Amino acid sequence: NVSIRELAIDFGTVSVLKSLNIEIQSGEFIVLLGPSGCGKSTLLNAIAGLTDISSGQIWIGDRNVTWEEPKDRGIGMVFQSYALYPTMTVEGNLSFGLRIAGMNKDEIAKRVDRAVQILQIDPLRKRRPGELSGGQRQRVAIGRALVRDVDVFLFDEPLSNLDAKLRTELRVELKRLHAGLGSTMIYVTHDQIEALTLADRIAVMSGGVIQQFAAPKEIYRRPVNRFVAGFVGSPS
Ligand code: ATP
Ligand code: MG
Repeated sequence: NVSIRELAIDFGTVSVLKSLNIEIQSGEFIVLLGPSGCGKSTLLNAIAGLTDISSGQIWIGDRNVTWEEPKDRGIGMVFQSYALYPTMTVEGNLSFGLRIAGMNKDEIAKRVDRAVQILQIDPLRKRRPGELSGGQRQRVAIGRALVRDVDVFLFDEPLSNLDAKLRTELRVELKRLHAGLGSTMIYVTHDQIEALTLADRIAVMSGGVIQQFAAPKEIYRRPVNRFVAGFVGSPS
Protein backbone atom coordinates (compact mmCIF):
# COMPACT_ATOMS: atom_id res chain seq x y z
CA ASN A 1 0.00 0.00 0.00
CA VAL A 2 0.94 3.66 -0.32
CA SER A 3 0.76 5.88 2.72
CA ILE A 4 1.16 9.66 2.61
CA ARG A 5 1.66 11.16 6.05
CA GLU A 6 1.39 14.87 6.81
CA LEU A 7 2.89 15.71 3.44
CA ALA A 8 3.58 19.41 2.91
CA ILE A 9 5.13 20.97 -0.16
CA ASP A 10 5.91 24.65 -0.55
CA PHE A 11 7.17 26.36 -3.66
CA GLY A 12 8.82 29.48 -2.30
CA THR A 13 6.25 31.09 -0.05
CA VAL A 14 3.32 29.27 -1.67
CA SER A 15 1.99 26.22 0.11
CA VAL A 16 0.89 23.76 -2.58
CA LEU A 17 0.20 20.67 -0.43
CA LYS A 18 -0.90 21.22 3.14
CA SER A 19 -0.29 18.38 5.59
CA LEU A 20 -1.93 15.91 3.31
CA ASN A 21 -2.76 12.39 4.52
CA ILE A 22 -3.93 9.51 2.39
CA GLU A 23 -3.87 5.73 2.87
CA ILE A 24 -4.11 3.64 -0.27
CA GLN A 25 -4.59 -0.13 -0.06
CA SER A 26 -2.52 -2.52 -2.08
CA GLY A 27 -4.18 -3.18 -5.46
CA GLU A 28 -6.54 -0.20 -5.30
CA PHE A 29 -7.24 2.00 -8.30
CA ILE A 30 -7.26 5.55 -6.93
CA VAL A 31 -8.23 8.59 -8.96
CA LEU A 32 -7.10 12.08 -7.94
CA LEU A 33 -9.73 14.51 -9.19
CA GLY A 34 -9.68 18.27 -8.83
CA PRO A 35 -9.43 21.63 -10.59
CA SER A 36 -6.34 22.85 -12.38
CA GLY A 37 -3.61 23.97 -9.98
CA CYS A 38 -4.95 22.11 -6.92
CA GLY A 39 -1.77 20.05 -6.53
CA LYS A 40 -2.55 16.73 -8.24
CA SER A 41 0.65 16.53 -10.26
CA THR A 42 2.67 17.79 -7.32
CA LEU A 43 1.33 14.93 -5.17
CA LEU A 44 2.09 12.38 -7.88
CA ASN A 45 5.59 13.78 -8.39
CA ALA A 46 6.20 13.60 -4.66
CA ILE A 47 5.26 9.92 -4.59
CA ALA A 48 7.56 9.34 -7.56
CA GLY A 49 10.40 11.23 -5.88
CA LEU A 50 10.51 13.90 -8.57
CA THR A 51 9.98 16.91 -6.33
CA ASP A 52 11.41 18.17 -3.05
CA ILE A 53 9.07 17.90 -0.13
CA SER A 54 8.96 20.33 2.77
CA SER A 55 7.81 17.93 5.47
CA GLY A 56 6.03 14.63 5.98
CA GLN A 57 6.65 11.06 4.88
CA ILE A 58 5.85 8.75 2.01
CA TRP A 59 5.64 5.01 2.60
CA ILE A 60 5.34 2.32 -0.06
CA GLY A 61 4.60 -1.08 1.45
CA ASP A 62 6.63 -1.26 4.64
CA ARG A 63 9.36 1.07 3.39
CA ASN A 64 9.74 4.74 4.18
CA VAL A 65 10.76 5.96 0.70
CA THR A 66 10.69 9.67 1.53
CA TRP A 67 14.40 10.02 0.81
CA GLU A 68 14.85 7.22 -1.71
CA GLU A 69 15.84 7.80 -5.33
CA PRO A 70 12.95 7.63 -7.85
CA LYS A 71 14.34 4.44 -9.42
CA ASP A 72 14.42 2.63 -6.06
CA ARG A 73 10.80 3.29 -5.15
CA GLY A 74 9.17 0.48 -7.11
CA ILE A 75 6.95 2.89 -9.01
CA GLY A 76 6.37 3.55 -12.70
CA MET A 77 5.09 6.88 -13.92
CA VAL A 78 3.16 7.59 -17.12
CA PHE A 79 2.87 11.21 -18.25
CA GLN A 80 0.42 13.01 -20.50
CA SER A 81 3.28 13.81 -22.86
CA TYR A 82 4.55 10.18 -23.20
CA ALA A 83 8.22 11.17 -22.62
CA LEU A 84 9.51 8.51 -25.04
CA TYR A 85 13.01 8.50 -26.52
CA PRO A 86 12.42 9.74 -30.09
CA THR A 87 15.44 8.04 -31.66
CA MET A 88 14.77 4.58 -30.20
CA THR A 89 12.36 1.98 -31.51
CA VAL A 90 9.43 0.77 -29.42
CA GLU A 91 11.57 -2.17 -28.30
CA GLY A 92 14.42 0.17 -27.48
CA ASN A 93 12.14 2.41 -25.42
CA LEU A 94 10.77 -0.57 -23.51
CA SER A 95 14.13 -2.18 -22.79
CA PHE A 96 16.26 0.90 -22.15
CA GLY A 97 15.68 1.19 -18.41
CA LEU A 98 16.22 -2.54 -17.92
CA ARG A 99 19.50 -2.46 -19.86
CA ILE A 100 20.70 0.48 -17.78
CA ALA A 101 19.85 -1.48 -14.65
CA GLY A 102 22.03 -4.35 -15.92
CA MET A 103 19.31 -6.96 -16.35
CA ASN A 104 20.27 -9.99 -18.48
CA LYS A 105 19.18 -10.14 -22.11
CA ASP A 106 16.87 -13.14 -21.83
CA GLU A 107 14.93 -11.62 -18.97
CA ILE A 108 14.66 -8.30 -20.85
CA ALA A 109 13.38 -10.07 -23.98
CA LYS A 110 10.82 -11.98 -21.92
CA ARG A 111 9.49 -8.83 -20.28
CA VAL A 112 9.35 -6.85 -23.53
CA ASP A 113 7.49 -9.74 -25.22
CA ARG A 114 4.97 -9.84 -22.42
CA ALA A 115 4.43 -6.05 -22.45
CA VAL A 116 3.88 -5.82 -26.22
CA GLN A 117 1.39 -8.71 -26.01
CA ILE A 118 -0.56 -7.20 -23.13
CA LEU A 119 -0.66 -3.76 -24.74
CA GLN A 120 -1.23 -5.11 -28.27
CA ILE A 121 1.70 -3.29 -29.83
CA ASP A 122 3.62 -6.35 -31.00
CA PRO A 123 3.49 -5.35 -34.72
CA LEU A 124 4.94 -1.91 -33.84
CA ARG A 125 8.12 -3.14 -32.16
CA LYS A 126 10.52 -1.78 -34.80
CA ARG A 127 8.88 1.62 -35.18
CA ARG A 128 10.02 4.87 -33.64
CA PRO A 129 7.71 7.16 -31.61
CA GLY A 130 7.40 9.57 -34.59
CA GLU A 131 5.80 6.73 -36.57
CA LEU A 132 3.11 6.02 -33.96
CA SER A 133 -0.30 7.51 -33.20
CA GLY A 134 -0.95 9.20 -29.87
CA GLY A 135 -2.73 6.14 -28.51
CA GLN A 136 0.08 3.84 -29.61
CA ARG A 137 2.66 6.12 -28.00
CA GLN A 138 0.75 6.07 -24.77
CA ARG A 139 0.69 2.27 -24.84
CA VAL A 140 4.48 2.30 -25.16
CA ALA A 141 4.70 4.71 -22.23
CA ILE A 142 2.54 2.36 -20.15
CA GLY A 143 4.70 -0.53 -21.36
CA ARG A 144 7.78 1.13 -19.94
CA ALA A 145 6.28 0.95 -16.48
CA LEU A 146 4.97 -2.55 -17.14
CA VAL A 147 8.36 -4.10 -18.01
CA ARG A 148 9.80 -2.85 -14.73
CA ASP A 149 7.30 -4.96 -12.82
CA VAL A 150 6.50 -2.09 -10.50
CA ASP A 151 4.17 -2.35 -7.50
CA VAL A 152 2.66 1.07 -8.04
CA PHE A 153 1.68 2.81 -11.28
CA LEU A 154 1.30 6.59 -11.32
CA PHE A 155 -0.61 8.17 -14.22
CA ASP A 156 -0.75 11.92 -14.81
CA GLU A 157 -3.63 12.56 -17.22
CA PRO A 158 -2.38 9.84 -19.57
CA LEU A 159 -5.33 10.03 -21.95
CA SER A 160 -5.93 13.76 -22.15
CA ASN A 161 -4.05 14.18 -25.44
CA LEU A 162 -6.14 11.53 -27.16
CA ASP A 163 -9.41 11.86 -29.04
CA ALA A 164 -12.64 10.69 -27.42
CA LYS A 165 -12.77 7.31 -29.16
CA LEU A 166 -9.20 6.37 -28.24
CA ARG A 167 -9.75 7.61 -24.70
CA THR A 168 -12.67 5.25 -24.26
CA GLU A 169 -10.70 2.38 -25.78
CA LEU A 170 -7.63 2.89 -23.61
CA ARG A 171 -9.76 3.43 -20.54
CA VAL A 172 -11.23 -0.04 -20.99
CA GLU A 173 -7.74 -1.45 -21.47
CA LEU A 174 -6.40 0.25 -18.38
CA LYS A 175 -9.19 -1.31 -16.39
CA ARG A 176 -8.35 -4.70 -17.82
CA LEU A 177 -4.65 -4.15 -17.13
CA HIS A 178 -5.41 -3.29 -13.54
CA ALA A 179 -7.61 -6.35 -13.11
CA GLY A 180 -4.90 -8.56 -14.60
CA LEU A 181 -1.94 -7.17 -12.68
CA GLY A 182 -3.56 -6.32 -9.38
CA SER A 183 -1.07 -3.46 -8.94
CA THR A 184 -1.83 -0.26 -7.09
CA MET A 185 -2.69 2.55 -9.50
CA ILE A 186 -2.89 6.25 -8.75
CA TYR A 187 -4.42 8.16 -11.61
CA VAL A 188 -4.81 11.91 -12.08
CA THR A 189 -7.58 13.21 -14.30
CA HIS A 190 -9.96 16.10 -14.93
CA ASP A 191 -12.38 13.75 -16.61
CA GLN A 192 -15.28 12.66 -14.42
CA ILE A 193 -16.22 9.74 -16.63
CA GLU A 194 -12.71 8.36 -16.29
CA ALA A 195 -12.85 8.87 -12.55
CA LEU A 196 -16.23 7.13 -12.27
CA THR A 197 -15.40 4.14 -14.41
CA LEU A 198 -11.84 3.51 -13.25
CA ALA A 199 -11.71 4.32 -9.57
CA ASP A 200 -12.19 2.07 -6.59
CA ARG A 201 -11.96 5.30 -4.63
CA ILE A 202 -11.75 8.93 -5.70
CA ALA A 203 -9.79 11.59 -3.83
CA VAL A 204 -11.32 14.99 -4.58
CA MET A 205 -8.68 17.68 -4.09
CA SER A 206 -8.75 21.43 -3.96
CA GLY A 207 -6.27 23.99 -2.73
CA GLY A 208 -3.68 21.42 -1.67
CA VAL A 209 -5.94 19.37 0.57
CA ILE A 210 -8.10 16.30 0.05
CA GLN A 211 -11.74 17.26 0.48
CA GLN A 212 -13.19 13.78 0.29
CA PHE A 213 -11.77 10.31 -0.26
CA ALA A 214 -14.40 7.69 -0.93
CA ALA A 215 -15.93 5.31 -3.47
CA PRO A 216 -17.40 7.06 -6.55
CA LYS A 217 -21.00 6.32 -5.52
CA GLU A 218 -20.43 7.77 -2.08
CA ILE A 219 -18.90 10.94 -3.51
CA TYR A 220 -21.80 11.49 -5.90
CA ARG A 221 -24.51 10.57 -3.41
CA ARG A 222 -23.07 12.12 -0.30
CA PRO A 223 -20.58 14.87 -1.08
CA VAL A 224 -19.14 16.13 2.22
CA ASN A 225 -19.24 19.81 1.33
CA ARG A 226 -20.28 22.37 -1.24
CA PHE A 227 -17.00 22.21 -3.07
CA VAL A 228 -17.25 18.47 -3.73
CA ALA A 229 -20.94 18.74 -4.63
CA GLY A 230 -20.23 21.57 -7.06
CA PHE A 231 -17.19 19.95 -8.59
CA VAL A 232 -18.62 16.51 -9.28
CA GLY A 233 -22.02 17.83 -10.23
CA SER A 234 -25.12 15.70 -9.97
CA PRO A 235 -25.06 12.02 -10.89
CA SER A 236 -26.54 11.23 -14.29
P1 ATP B 1 -3.42 20.67 -13.62
O1 ATP B 1 -4.75 19.99 -13.50
O2 ATP B 1 -3.51 21.96 -14.34
O3 ATP B 1 -2.34 19.77 -14.15
P2 ATP B 1 -2.44 20.23 -10.92
O4 ATP B 1 -3.54 19.94 -9.95
O5 ATP B 1 -1.68 19.07 -11.44
O6 ATP B 1 -3.04 21.10 -12.11
P3 ATP B 1 0.10 21.15 -9.92
O7 ATP B 1 0.87 21.04 -11.16
O8 ATP B 1 0.33 20.14 -8.86
O9 ATP B 1 -1.47 21.27 -10.20
O10 ATP B 1 0.39 22.60 -9.33
C1 ATP B 1 -0.11 23.01 -8.06
C2 ATP B 1 0.31 24.46 -7.82
O11 ATP B 1 1.72 24.52 -7.64
C3 ATP B 1 -0.01 25.41 -8.96
O12 ATP B 1 -0.44 26.61 -8.41
C4 ATP B 1 1.31 25.58 -9.66
O13 ATP B 1 1.39 26.83 -10.26
C5 ATP B 1 2.31 25.41 -8.56
N1 ATP B 1 3.59 24.81 -8.99
C6 ATP B 1 3.75 23.60 -9.55
N2 ATP B 1 5.05 23.33 -9.79
C7 ATP B 1 5.74 24.41 -9.38
C8 ATP B 1 7.13 24.76 -9.34
N3 ATP B 1 8.07 23.94 -9.79
N4 ATP B 1 7.44 25.99 -8.84
C9 ATP B 1 6.51 26.82 -8.38
N5 ATP B 1 5.19 26.57 -8.36
C10 ATP B 1 4.80 25.37 -8.86
MG1 MG C 1 -1.23 18.39 -13.37
